Amino acid sequence: ATEAEEKDLVVIGGGVAGYVAAIKAGQAGLKVTCIEKRGALGGTCLNVGCIPSKSLLNNSHMYHSILHDTKNRGIDVGDVKLNLAQMMKAKETSVSGLTKGIEFLFKKNNVEYIKGTGAFTDEHTIAVNLLDGGETSVKGKNIIIATGSEATPFPGLTIDEEKIITSTGAIALQKVPKKMVVIGGGIIGLEMGSVWSRLGSEVTVVEFLGQIGGPGMDNEIAKLTQKLLTKQGMKFKLNTKVMGGDDSGETVKINVEAAKGGKEELLDADVVLVAIGRRPYTAGLNFEKIGLEADDKGRLVIDQEFRTKIPHIRVIGDCTFGPMLAHKAEEEGVAVAEFITKGYGHVNYGAIPSVMYSHPEVAWVGQNEQELKAADVKYKSGSFPFSANSRAKTNLDTEGIVKFLADAETDRILGVHIVGPNAGEMIAEATLALEYGASCEDVARTSHAHPTLSEAFKEAAMATYDKAIHY
Ligand code: FAD
Ligand code: NAD
Repeated sequence: ATEAEEKDLVVIGGGVAGYVAAIKAGQAGLKVTCIEKRGALGGTCLNVGCIPSKSLLNNSHMYHSILHDTKNRGIDVGDVKLNLAQMMKAKETSVSGLTKGIEFLFKKNNVEYIKGTGAFTDEHTIAVNLLDGGETSVKGKNIIIATGSEATPFPGLTIDEEKIITSTGAIALQKVPKKMVVIGGGIIGLEMGSVWSRLGSEVTVVEFLGQIGGPGMDNEIAKLTQKLLTKQGMKFKLNTKVMGGDDSGETVKINVEAAKGGKEELLDADVVLVAIGRRPYTAGLNFEKIGLEADDKGRLVIDQEFRTKIPHIRVIGDCTFGPMLAHKAEEEGVAVAEFITKGYGHVNYGAIPSVMYSHPEVAWVGQNEQELKAADVKYKSGSFPFSANSRAKTNLDTEGIVKFLADAETDRILGVHIVGPNAGEMIAEATLALEYGASCEDVARTSHAHPTLSEAFKEAAMATYDKAIHY
């Protein structure tokens, strides 16, 4: 092993959290090394998460629309066929372009990139098991842990990424399964369930709770979303527990039981997607050896400045607290680099948007109605349906609503919840409004171009403190 010079900063993990921190610190003139074991930068998000799933979501949506939604638009198409191999290739092209882009940004910002697995040997030293064989070690004045997360396994079901899969298998299936059972009706279950349902699978989602969408989704929006996805052909079993499974036969048998009443049922599937959440990934890091702590969920413990109890070691992204989202990881990447280089940084955890890239999309920011009720906050709400929006009508894409929640007295926006076309882009406007402490009236008195979907956003704001014009 060779002993390298001491760097200003060593980042373990080249995912969104880690690579952003490395670039930001490099821009400030620090000598930075980033260690990544995957062989490609960008982490879960770029390689097996956000990006490949969105490629498949976009292209499966196009396929499904061409099959079912062209005649009424005056477009007669001939024989439409799925070329799954090409759809996967298109996905790979998006992924490889973006991961190589980060390598370029590393070079541009003087970040050294080491391909290998890092483990602490002491508070300042990381031993690296190199991907191409051999070892090296790196010393850092500052160290950032950004090792991300992994799929939570389901006890009793062995993941083989072919018959019993996580999201990683779900973005790489080589043929369309006839029947797919999805365990967990959160974001991964609904996004990947949508992809395979559009491509022809019979998809049944089994969810333990009484509503879909995972943590954070507003009750009313979750109900509406479930209705829309059901219309598209997905089936839902809510309040249902998976008791176990048997994958010894040609198909997988999944035992489920209703939470109330205990009615049992046997589901049959060619492929079972386990999507019950993700957990922090810190295996092999040796963090215990140097005295760092994880909580009962495996999240590395930090303070407000991302510091562990060893102050020059900080943690960001999925392997610590907060929502497991790429843009949250990115915010933390910038903030942590600023803490190191300037002594201050900032992330507003109250204004981090969530987007589910189904069709229509579901997006929200701030608090939902059930949270406001639980906290006994006096609020008012206003909504506007896309069916009354002129652009949605011209697009023949009118399902969904925009819903505002605002302080009953001051009119200050507390949360915005959207299900509808382009909700994922529209939520940026809500996030900005929330960041600036806007009232509903501020939004409603801002001119929005006509005819755009964003007029539904403006009118929902208007409906919260007064009456909407078009509904
Ligand atoms: P990661 O991206 O997991 O990166 C950590 C990196 O560290 C990994 O590449 C890993 O190989 C590396 N590593 C781990 N241990 C070591 C070690 N000891 N030495 C060297 N390297 C190591 N979020 C969104 O905001 N929008 C989305 O649309 C979205 N879609 C998703 C779809 C799917 C299917 C999945 C699974 C996730 C999705 N997410 C999405 C979540 C998003 O991917 C994560 O929140 C994000 O990747 C977290 O970034 P991170 O840098 O903390 O961790
Ligand atoms: P999730 O937490 O969003 O949803 C998991 C769902 O599984 C919940 O509804 C939960 O009630 C249910 N569940 C848990 N145990 C169960 C059981 N035993 N049986 C049946 N249901 C059970 O988790 P996920 O969908 O796996 O996603 C993981 C992470 O990845 C999330 O943090 C998510 O934000 C992130 N992600 C984000 C996006 C996006 O931003 N578009 C896309 C994919 C993933």
